[in-house]
Amino acid sequence: MFFLINGEGSSGIGELRVQLEARANRLDAIEAATRIVEAEVSCKSVGRGGMPNILGTMQFDASILDGQTLRCGAVGALEHTPHALTVARQVMERLPHVFLVGAGADRFAREIGVAAEPALTDDARAKWEQWVGDSRAELERPDAPLAPWLGTSIDISYKLPEARPKDTVVTLVRDHTGHCASGASTSGWDFKYPGRVGDSPIIGAGHYADSRYGTAACTHTGEMTIRTCAAHSVVMNMKAGMSPKQAVTDVGNELRRLTGGHIGTVVIYAVNAEGEHYVATTGDAASYYFWREGTPEIAHLSALPLELT
Ligand code: ASP
Repeated sequence: MFFLINGEGSSGIGELRVQLEARANRLDAIEAATRIVEAEVSCKSVGRGGMPNILGTMQFDASILDGQTLRCGAVGALEHTPHALTVARQVMERLPHVFLVGAGADRFAREIGVAAEPALTDDARAKWEQWVGDSRAELERPDAPLAPWLGTSIDISYKLPEARPKDTVVTLVRDHTGHCASGASTSGWDFKYPGRVGDSPIIGAGHYADSRYGTAACTHTGEMTIRTCAAHSVVMNMKAGMSPKQAVTDVGNELRRLTGGHIGTVVIYAVNAEGEHYVATTGDAASYYFWREGTPEIAHLSALPLELT
């Protein structure tokens, strides 16, 4: 058994360990821990504590994948519940589909009994109001062009010293049966274009798991990991015999070769079927927690700088 969860998921680490040690199913463990993170208002990139889009509306992305069966479920731009991973899991459990977005995802959430709740906190509203400033009325015109605002939302995410970069909670797990699973949940890029979907709900971009080879996830610039199917590529590298370090380093260097489009930090997390792990960042610092059966402590570690090839 093991789990790896990124720093954003610190509030979920106790639950993950309790679940796994109690021989919970891997999907139950990921969902239980993610629900705690999604409810934690101090976590500013996920669930209740997350940040809204350009129009001040919360839109959540999440997905979950079982590494034994490769069954998966995903939601994008879900608005009325912060517990996006729970809805994603139920897409997998109850529908013949794997991915619901927007109004359909919200409709499904109500249908399965997930109550609608106000998703925007006072703190997030205040930050959005500060960002939008005097331009609010102009921005809220139904036909207002929104694309020009994307530049300033990038500035918020990347350039202002007091701003935090965007982030996500990603969880990689192997349970007592020896099978892996992976999951992700996020409110995505602060002040993103309405309807923007990042990598977290895109299986193979934001995370991936195949119990035979291991599991991987990515955080930060989803626009880049979608272009490279990054998490799937890491797992396929491990299938081809690479160590987690080699697999992550190879994909990180593919990300470095991307030309044009929006370029930013990507953090790549991998654990192989033997439980060996490696985490690297192409830029900003990042931390994560790793626990393996038989070790008394949950290690809190830093992502290593990507080694250039
Ligand atoms: N990867 C997420 C996204 O693109 C955000 C993040 O992890 O920083 O929505």
